[in-house]
Amino acid sequence: MLHRSRSHWFHSAEPYAPSAPLEGVLNVDVCVVGGGVTGLSTAYHLKKLDQHASVALLESEVVGFGASGRNAGQLIVAFGESDFKAQMRRHGAAKLREAYTYIHEGISTIEDLINEHDIACDYEQTGYFEMGLRADGSETLDEYLAFCRGIGQDSFLEPISEAQVARSFQSPYFGKAVFDRRGGQFNPLKYLRELKFVVQRFGVQVHENSPVVCIEREPSCISLRTGRGTLRCQKLVVATNAYSHLLPGLEDLGMIRSQSPVFVYANVTEPLSESQWGALNWPRRAGVNLMSKLFYSFAPTRDGRLLYVGGYYARVPQGNEMSLDISKDFLTEGPRHLASFFPALSDLRTVQSWGGPISTTRDFIPHVGLLADDRIGYANGCWGHGMPLGTSNGRTLAGLMLNRRTTDSASWLVTRKKIDWPSRMIVSPVVRSLSSAMRRDIRKIGRKMQPRLVFEK
Ligand SMILES: Cc1cc2nc3c(=O)[nH]c(=O)nc-3n(C[C@H](O)[C@H](O)[C@H](O)COP(=O)(O)OP(=O)(O)OC[C@H]3O[C@@H](n4cnc5c(N)ncnc54)[C@H](O)[C@@H]3O)c2cc1C
Repeated sequence: MLHRSRSHWFHSAEPYAPSAPLEGVLNVDVCVVGGGVTGLSTAYHLKKLDQHASVALLESEVVGFGASGRNAGQLIVAFGESDFKAQMRRHGAAKLREAYTYIHEGISTIEDLINEHDIACDYEQTGYFEMGLRADGSETLDEYLAFCRGIGQDSFLEPISEAQVARSFQSPYFGKAVFDRRGGQFNPLKYLRELKFVVQRFGVQVHENSPVVCIEREPSCISLRTGRGTLRCQKLVVATNAYSHLLPGLEDLGMIRSQSPVFVYANVTEPLSESQWGALNWPRRAGVNLMSKLFYSFAPTRDGRLLYVGGYYARVPQGNEMSLDISKDFLTEGPRHLASFFPALSDLRTVQSWGGPISTTRDFIPHVGLLADDRIGYANGCWGHGMPLGTSNGRTLAGLMLNRRTTDSASWLVTRKKIDWPSRMIVSPVVRSLSSAMRRDIRKIGRKMQPRLVFEK
C-alpha cells in the first residue's frame, strides 16, 4: 500500500510549493476561509464581479487538503437524498428543477474555467452512467427517469437496456442504466492548484498553512487570527464544509449544528492494461455510479486506473475528531468486491486507499447563504457530488458578499429556512444510527446478489 493519508491525486502530483502562510496584519474587504472548490470558486467570482475588491483566502493546510483534493474526480449532476419520490414530495418540481440546473451550471462553470484559463486537469467530457443493480430490480432506475422527466432534466439522458449493459461492462451485478451526457472526469487536485494560480493572477492573496484559530466579530470589522498573523475584513466567507463546526468564534451563529461530518473512503488500482480495458469493453471510459443503497462508484482515471468509492464504509466521527483512519475491512473487502463486480479484473492490484470528509445537513439539502451576522456568508452540506455544487455556491456567495441581486441570491437554496441538526451531543449518535440502518439494508442487498457480495461486519 502506498501513502494512505492523502489521496491518489496528491500522491501522483507534481512537486508543489504552497503559498506563504499569513504573517503580521492584513486588511482586506473579503476573507474566504477554506481552500477547497467552494472557497476558490468564491474568490474567483468575487474578483470577476469586482476587480477592485481586496480578497484573501486562508487555508489551514494546502489547497485541496479537504474533500476537494480527495474525491473520485467525477463531475455529475446529483442533488439531495437518493429517494426521488421523497424529494419530489418535499420540494416539488419547480424547486428541484432550479436545484438540478444549479448543479448543471456548476459543471458548465468548471468547463468554462478550464477552457478560458487553459487549466490542465485531465478533464474528459465522457458523461457518466447511473447504473441499476440487478438485485434491486428495475424500479429505482424507472423512478429516476420519471423523476428527471418531472423536473425537465430528461433531455440529457439516454436509457440503456440490461442487454446493452451486459455487453458493455462484463459485470454480473449490473442491471439497466441511464447514460447522462453531461460532465465527465478530471483530476480535482490539478484543477484546484491551477485555479489557485488563476485567482492569484486576479490579485487574491492566498495563504496556505494558515489555520484560522479565532474569529472575533467587532462592529467595525471581523478579525481572524492564525498562529502567525491577523487578518481584518469587512466580509467573511466560511467555506470549510465538513470542518465548519470546529471554527471558533461562530458558535452563537449556529455553525455547530448546521452540518455534521461523515468520512468516505476511496481506493485506486494500478493501471489496467489495454487488454484488460478491452476485455471490459467499458464505453467511453465514463464514470459509473450505482443507483442503489449499495453505493459504489467506479471512475476510470486518465492514466487507466479504476478509482472506486464504497459507501458502506462511510464513518461518522466521534465528537470533534477528524482522523480519516481507514478500516481494515475497507482495505480487504474493497479489492474483493471489485473482483466480484468485474471478474475480468480479479488479478488487478489496489494500490492506494484514503478517506475524505463530506458534510451532511439534516434534510440532505446543502446550506448556502448568510448567517445572522449578515457580514458572513457560508456554505456547507456538500456531500456526494460537491465539485459542481461548490462551484455554483462560490458564485452565489460572491454575489451575496458584494450585495449583488442575482438569480442566485434569490434562489430558494439561499432564502429557505435552514434546518439544523439537534444539539451537537446527539448529532453523532443520530447520524450513526441512520448509517447503521443503511448498513443493515446494504447487507441484505449483498445477500440477494449473485454471486453473493459478502461484508464481514
Ligand atoms: C472519497 C470522496 C469521493 C468523492 N467523490 C466526488 C466526486 O466524484 N465528485 C464530486 O463532485 N464530489 C465528490 N466528493 C464530494 C466533494 O469532494 C465535496 O463535496 C467537495 O469537495 C466539498 O468542497 P468544499 O470546498 O466545500 O470543502 P473542502 O474541500 O473540504 O474544503 C474545506 C477546506 O477548509 C479548510 N479548513 C477547515 N478548517 C479551516 C480553518 N480553521 N482555517 C482555514 N482553513 C480551514 C480545509 O483544510 C479544507 O481544505 C467526494 C468526496 C469524498 C470524500
